[in-house]
Amino acid sequence: MQKIEHIGIAVKDLEAAEQTYSLIFGAQPYKREAVESEGVITSFLRCGPNKIELLQSTKDDGPIAKFIEKRGEGIHHIAFAVTDIKSEMSRMKSDGFRLLHEEPKKGADNKWICFVHPKSANGVLIELCQERTE
Ligand code: ZN
Repeated sequence: MQKIEHIGIAVKDLEAAEQTYSLIFGAQPYKREAVESEGVITSFLRCGPNKIELLQSTKDDGPIAKFIEKRGEGIHHIAFAVTDIKSEMSRMKSDGFRLLHEEPKKGADNKWICFVHPKSANGVLIELCQERTE
Protein backbone atom coordinates (compact mmCIF):
# COMPACT_ATOMS: atom_id res chain seq x y z
CA MET A 1 0.00 0.00 0.00
CA GLN A 2 1.30 3.43 -0.88
CA LYS A 3 -0.66 5.93 1.18
CA ILE A 4 -4.13 6.93 2.30
CA GLU A 5 -5.92 7.87 -0.93
CA HIS A 6 -9.00 9.38 0.70
CA ILE A 7 -11.36 9.12 3.65
CA GLY A 8 -15.01 8.38 2.89
CA ILE A 9 -17.72 10.05 4.96
CA ALA A 10 -21.36 8.92 4.84
CA VAL A 11 -23.78 11.87 4.78
CA LYS A 12 -27.54 12.29 4.59
CA ASP A 13 -27.55 15.54 2.64
CA LEU A 14 -24.71 15.94 0.15
CA GLU A 15 -25.31 19.62 -0.49
CA ALA A 16 -25.31 20.51 3.21
CA ALA A 17 -22.20 18.39 3.81
CA GLU A 18 -20.43 20.05 0.85
CA GLN A 19 -21.11 23.42 2.45
CA THR A 20 -19.84 22.25 5.84
CA TYR A 21 -16.62 20.75 4.47
CA SER A 22 -16.04 23.73 2.16
CA LEU A 23 -16.10 25.87 5.29
CA ILE A 24 -13.75 23.52 7.14
CA PHE A 25 -11.20 23.35 4.29
CA GLY A 26 -11.75 26.79 2.77
CA ALA A 27 -12.11 25.12 -0.63
CA GLN A 28 -15.00 24.02 -2.80
CA PRO A 29 -15.60 20.40 -3.91
CA TYR A 30 -13.71 19.69 -7.14
CA LYS A 31 -15.75 16.77 -8.39
CA ARG A 32 -19.21 15.28 -8.05
CA GLU A 33 -19.82 11.82 -9.42
CA ALA A 34 -22.57 9.21 -9.22
CA VAL A 35 -21.53 5.57 -8.88
CA GLU A 36 -24.55 3.65 -10.11
CA SER A 37 -23.34 0.20 -9.00
CA GLU A 38 -22.87 1.37 -5.39
CA GLY A 39 -26.06 3.44 -5.29
CA VAL A 40 -24.20 6.59 -4.25
CA ILE A 41 -23.45 10.09 -5.33
CA THR A 42 -19.99 11.25 -4.27
CA SER A 43 -18.36 14.62 -3.85
CA PHE A 44 -14.61 15.15 -3.46
CA LEU A 45 -12.77 17.90 -1.61
CA ARG A 46 -9.07 18.46 -1.16
CA CYS A 47 -7.30 19.49 2.00
CA GLY A 48 -3.65 19.95 1.06
CA PRO A 49 -2.42 16.57 -0.23
CA ASN A 50 -5.43 14.76 1.24
CA LYS A 51 -8.86 14.00 -0.12
CA ILE A 52 -12.25 13.59 1.48
CA GLU A 53 -15.05 11.74 -0.29
CA LEU A 54 -18.58 12.60 0.82
CA LEU A 55 -21.09 9.84 0.05
CA GLN A 56 -24.86 10.18 -0.13
CA SER A 57 -27.11 7.22 -0.89
CA THR A 58 -29.28 7.33 -3.99
CA LYS A 59 -31.40 4.36 -2.84
CA ASP A 60 -33.19 3.61 0.41
CA ASP A 61 -31.61 0.15 0.69
CA GLY A 62 -28.11 1.07 -0.58
CA PRO A 63 -24.99 0.40 1.52
CA ILE A 64 -24.65 4.06 2.59
CA ALA A 65 -28.33 4.32 3.57
CA LYS A 66 -27.97 1.13 5.64
CA PHE A 67 -24.77 2.38 7.25
CA ILE A 68 -26.43 5.67 8.31
CA GLU A 69 -29.49 3.82 9.57
CA LYS A 70 -27.31 1.64 11.81
CA ARG A 71 -24.53 3.99 12.88
CA GLY A 72 -25.54 7.50 11.84
CA GLU A 73 -23.48 9.82 9.66
CA GLY A 74 -19.72 9.64 9.96
CA ILE A 75 -16.52 8.06 8.68
CA HIS A 76 -17.50 5.18 6.43
CA HIS A 77 -14.18 3.93 5.04
CA ILE A 78 -10.49 4.64 4.62
CA ALA A 79 -9.11 4.16 1.12
CA PHE A 80 -5.53 3.19 0.40
CA ALA A 81 -3.77 3.67 -2.91
CA VAL A 82 -2.19 0.57 -4.43
CA THR A 83 -0.26 0.15 -7.67
CA ASP A 84 -1.57 -3.31 -8.54
CA ILE A 85 -5.00 -3.93 -7.07
CA LYS A 86 -5.29 -7.53 -8.29
CA SER A 87 -2.07 -8.65 -6.67
CA GLU A 88 -2.93 -6.72 -3.48
CA MET A 89 -6.34 -8.45 -3.44
CA SER A 90 -4.83 -11.91 -3.78
CA ARG A 91 -2.16 -11.13 -1.17
CA MET A 92 -4.79 -9.99 1.33
CA LYS A 93 -7.02 -12.94 0.53
CA SER A 94 -4.22 -15.40 1.14
CA ASP A 95 -3.42 -13.55 4.39
CA GLY A 96 -6.98 -14.34 5.51
CA PHE A 97 -8.73 -11.01 4.89
CA ARG A 98 -12.33 -11.10 3.72
CA LEU A 99 -12.80 -9.16 0.48
CA LEU A 100 -16.25 -7.91 -0.40
CA HIS A 101 -15.86 -8.80 -4.07
CA GLU A 102 -13.76 -11.13 -6.20
CA GLU A 103 -12.86 -8.70 -8.97
CA PRO A 104 -11.96 -4.99 -8.84
CA LYS A 105 -14.97 -2.72 -9.45
CA LYS A 106 -15.13 0.66 -11.11
CA GLY A 107 -15.25 3.32 -8.39
CA ALA A 108 -15.52 7.09 -8.36
CA ASP A 109 -12.68 9.42 -9.34
CA ASN A 110 -11.31 7.12 -12.05
CA LYS A 111 -10.35 4.22 -9.80
CA TRP A 112 -10.45 0.46 -9.64
CA ILE A 113 -11.63 -0.41 -6.16
CA CYS A 114 -12.11 -3.31 -3.79
CA PHE A 115 -13.51 -3.24 -0.25
CA VAL A 116 -12.16 -5.32 2.62
CA HIS A 117 -14.72 -6.38 5.23
CA PRO A 118 -14.55 -4.34 8.46
CA LYS A 119 -14.60 -7.57 10.49
CA SER A 120 -11.17 -8.26 8.98
CA ALA A 121 -9.74 -4.91 10.05
CA ASN A 122 -10.84 -4.02 13.58
CA GLY A 123 -14.13 -2.52 12.52
CA VAL A 124 -12.75 -0.32 9.73
CA LEU A 125 -14.01 -0.70 6.18
CA ILE A 126 -10.91 -0.55 3.98
CA GLU A 127 -11.00 0.37 0.30
CA LEU A 128 -8.14 -0.47 -2.01
CA CYS A 129 -7.88 1.82 -5.02
CA GLN A 130 -5.80 1.83 -8.11
CA GLU A 131 -5.78 4.63 -10.67
CA ARG A 132 -7.62 3.56 -13.86
CA THR A 133 -5.48 4.09 -16.91
CA GLU A 134 -7.86 3.37 -19.79
ZN1 ZN B 1 -13.94 5.74 -1.27
